[in-house]
Amino acid sequence: MPIVTQVICDRCPKVKGENNGWWVVFPETRWPQGFSVYSFDLVRDGGLDGAGVKILCSVTCLCEEIRMRTEKAGLPAASGAAGATATPA
Ligand SMILES: [Zn+2]
Repeated sequence: MPIVTQVICDRCPKVKGENNGWWVVFPETRWPQGFSVYSFDLVRDGGLDGAGVKILCSVTCLCEEIRMRTEKAGLPAASGAAGATATPA
């Protein structure tokens, strides 16, 4: 009988099914405030249980994770967020 590992989103209670819209955020080792984002299917065999690694079910949860990390690191908020306006040159 095969061992089935259940994957659960780190930001909401969603359980991974067959859909492919999942994401993994890895912390950067050289710059603590940095991080890398990969499609779950690209990295599914590579160290997903490491420290600081977040598995996320959707772009919604991914955006929330990035927002939280940038705020925590004191980085400027991304433009294009709700309420942001662009000034034409
Ligand atoms: Zn989620």
